[in-house]
Amino acid sequence: MLIARTIEELRNTIASRSYKSLGFVPTMGALHEGHLSLIQKAFEQNDLVVVSVFVNPTQFGPNEDFDKYPRNYSRDIEILQTAGVHILFLPEIETMYPLGHEVEIRLPKISSILCGKFRPGHFDGVALILTKFFNILRPNKAYFGQKDYQQTIIVKKLVEQLFWEIEIVVCPTVRDEDGLAKSSRNQYLSAQERKNALILYQTLLWVASQVSVSRDLKFLAEQARQRLISAPSIKLEYFEILRARDLEPIDFLVENAIALGAIYVNNTRLIDNILLTVENLN
Ligand code: AMP
Repeated sequence: MLIARTIEELRNTIASRSYKSLGFVPTMGALHEGHLSLIQKAFEQNDLVVVSVFVNPTQFGPNEDFDKYPRNYSRDIEILQTAGVHILFLPEIETMYPLGHEVEIRLPKISSILCGKFRPGHFDGVALILTKFFNILRPNKAYFGQKDYQQTIIVKKLVEQLFWEIEIVVCPTVRDEDGLAKSSRNQYLSAQERKNALILYQTLLWVASQVSVSRDLKFLAEQARQRLISAPSIKLEYFEILRARDLEPIDFLVENAIALGAIYVNNTRLIDNILLTVENLN
C-alpha cells in the first residue's frame, strides 16, 4: 500500500497507475467493520481503491469532539494494508487547508435540517472537504454508509450540482450483534451507556414493524419520540420520518421513507436510521 501525504504525491501516484475505475472511500479513521464494508464494495467494483483518513476540522463545531476524536493512524494503516488497499491518502490539516478556511461550499437547504440543524456548519465542512478530495482524485465511484443518511443525500446533490461524473454508492449500515450501528464514537461509551444507546435502534425497528399497521408517518414519528423521551439515561435530539429520496416531508407511506434519529447518551451523540419501503405493504 502506498501512503500519500501530499497532494502532489497522491496525484503522481494515481497518474502512474493504469486503471479502469478508481473507487474512493473517504473516512475519518478509527476504522471499524463499517468502513471495511465500504472498502470491500469498492474492491468489487473498481481496480484501483483509494482510502483517505482525515479528521476534517471544518466539519466539527467549536464545542464538538474534534480534539478528542479517536485517532490511531498506525492501527488504521495496518488494517488498510491487510485489506489490500492500493493507496492511502493521509494528509495533514495544512495540506487540505493551505490558506486556512477560505472557500465555502454550501447546500443551504438540505444542510439546515436534521443533523444540520443541531450541528450548524457541519455539512458545509463535509461538502468542502469532499469537493477538495473529488477534485484531486477524480474518482469514478465514491462510497458512503447509509448510517450517515443525510450525508449521502447531500453528497449526491453536490455531485449533481457540480457536474462531476462520480457515482455515489451507498452501503448498508453495519451493526454489532445487538444492533448498535458501528461508529468510531462508540469508543466513548461505557458498558452501561452502550446498553442505553440501543433504544435508538430498537425504536427504529419498532417504527418499521408498525408501518404495516399504520401508514400515518406523522403519528408514528410522534409515538417514536415519546418512546425516546421516556427512555432512561438518554436525551433525544431529533426523530423524524421523511421522504427517502430527498428528505422532504411526507405524511403517509406512499413512497419509500426513512426514519432517522439522533440521541445523546451522556456526552456522546449517536445517529441511526431505517428505511421504510412501500414494496412489501398491501
Ligand atoms: P467516518 O469515518 O465516521 O466519517 O465514516 C466514513 C464513512 O464510513 C462514511 O461514509 C460513513 O457513513 C461510513 N460508515 C460509518 N459507520 C458505518 C457503519 N456502521 N456502517 C456502514 N458505513 C459506515
